[in-house]
Amino acid sequence: MKPLTFNQLWQKDGSVHKDAPRWAKSLAEIRKAFPSPFKESPDRLLEQVTKGIKKLDELKQEVGGPAFLGRPGSFNPKGPDYKKAREAQLPHHDLGNLDKILEETINHSVDLFKGLPNWNHPLSMPNVIPPANIAAIIAAMMTEVFSPNIIEGEYSWDVEFSELESAAMLARLIGWDPETAGGLFTFGGSGCYFYGMKYALTRVLGRESRFKGIRTEGKILVSQQGHYCKLNSTDWTGLGMDHIIDIETDPETNVMDIIQLERVMEKLYKEGTPIISIICTMMTTDTNAVDPVKQVREMVEKYPNPHGYGKPFIYCDAVCGWSWLVFKDYDFEHNPLEFTREILPFIKQNSEAVQELVYADAVGCDFHKLGWAPYNCSLFVMKDYEEFRRLMCRPGSDYLQERTEYNPGLYTLEVSRSGSYSMAGWATLKLLGYEGFQAILGHILEAEHYLRRRLAEEKDLVCVNPDDYGFVTLFRVYPKDVNADAQYQKELAWPDCLDQLMKHNRLQAKVADKLWEWFREGKKFDLPKDCFDYTPYTSYTSGFRPTEYNPEQSNPNAVIYALKSYPMNVNINYNSMETLIEMVREARDQVVKEGWV
Ligand SMILES: *Cc1c(COP(=O)(O)O)cnc(C)c1O
Repeated sequence: MKPLTFNQLWQKDGSVHKDAPRWAKSLAEIRKAFPSPFKESPDRLLEQVTKGIKKLDELKQEVGGPAFLGRPGSFNPKGPDYKKAREAQLPHHDLGNLDKILEETINHSVDLFKGLPNWNHPLSMPNVIPPANIAAIIAAMMTEVFSPNIIEGEYSWDVEFSELESAAMLARLIGWDPETAGGLFTFGGSGCYFYGMKYALTRVLGRESRFKGIRTEGKILVSQQGHYCKLNSTDWTGLGMDHIIDIETDPETNVMDIIQLERVMEKLYKEGTPIISIICTMMTTDTNAVDPVKQVREMVEKYPNPHGYGKPFIYCDAVCGWSWLVFKDYDFEHNPLEFTREILPFIKQNSEAVQELVYADAVGCDFHKLGWAPYNCSLFVMKDYEEFRRLMCRPGSDYLQERTEYNPGLYTLEVSRSGSYSMAGWATLKLLGYEGFQAILGHILEAEHYLRRRLAEEKDLVCVNPDDYGFVTLFRVYPKDVNADAQYQKELAWPDCLDQLMKHNRLQAKVADKLWEWFREGKKFDLPKDCFDYTPYTSYTSGFRPTEYNPEQSNPNAVIYALKSYPMNVNINYNSMETLIEMVREARDQVVKEGWV
């Protein structure tokens, strides 16, 4: 029999000819695994999405259950056996039954979520990890359906508005002119940092440096408390990690010491060493420190770079701090959202501190930190977009034409750019608006305030960062008969209490490990009625500050360990905090019983 030719493979109704070669029959099956190009009823994608999300949601617990996905016991609480991954092979399928394969693939995908922490759970408070809102989830999912590529307008059309409008909204919040400012979504706070550093290098060393390479030993000035992704950026840009100069911070507030900064800048000025960038952290991840950008700007004017180099660049790492900008015009006197009076000064303080962003050259904002959007979702905002574009543009490619007036792929780090981050960020801004952000930020401070008040009432517990009103509460637990506050004050101040400090540091670490173990096991407790019956998901810090007699940290043991509560979600309530207090004591009793010393 003569083989069918290409134009004979398909029947009029679109089905495959019964004598078609095997590849065409396989393809006919595979088509079922793609959304239809046309309207169809029922809609395959919609059916599968509904089924898939339903399966995924079945991993959630009944009301009040533990703070991870999947039944306790359905995964190894000690951790996944990642070595097994090496056994994976590309499957040999018989595509004759594609529906079944599709279903298995979706079910298997769901299985991978077993054991994952549930960030939206009232007992989740480990770190700056927010749950994503529904508008952002759906908007990001939409990009998976139709794959806009925000490399250029031709491939994304109106989806580009999500990037351009987000940039305009953020520029306005910062206090910049949205006509001249601009922004680009990228892969994280570290991506923003990287953009900032490349922009800074190019401004200071000139456009030529993009051709000749980085041959000048310019310096990056960043506070000791600045995020460690300073290493990623100096390394990957080729400047080199040795060219970071750490600026000391105030031991109380963790803010960059401006006198120290001036000393360093003056020295570099006299030596003729160019400064590439001064990086201000606008809310450190754990300590809520906001560096003084206005004063840094004054320093930049006072100590210009040597002749032939561009002006030092001020980058603000505001990935955690940016959303406090929404309180800029809040009427603190009339307090329209009716926050507790006691927390108003802290909201005001946070809001005023980040308003100095206006003095920056560029700012990094994470929506997957204090923005309640899914990963990855970060916006790099620059004050002078045209300067950035001019410095960073590349000649186009032969196979891309500039069909619309927006072609960011000519100057972005990425080539293909997912519309998922820009859609998620944009949808979040549109959904929450001023009041939404204000209510969430305020809510978390209210929860922190409640916890701090409760800690102050309990003799065996002490809050160790009472003056810091970010989202982190750090506290220590002591044996039952110890007056925690008095003991902590001694350990903080007196060198002859070092042994006791170290002993109680070990207690914090062991309590934290016990809580982690109980959380992972999904161990059920019978707690008082204001509590959940499961262990909160928390973390701890092995040294959030040195003791008072160890300011230079010359003694690595003279540091303060603390248990950490970092609530980030909208479901945190007073029961979460009551459970935390109960379970910390339960764990302490267990650790003491096991003989921790
Ligand atoms: C998280 C964080 C970063 C890194 O951001 P990613 O989004 O994780 O890449 C940088 N700086 C600060 C202050 C952070 O908290």
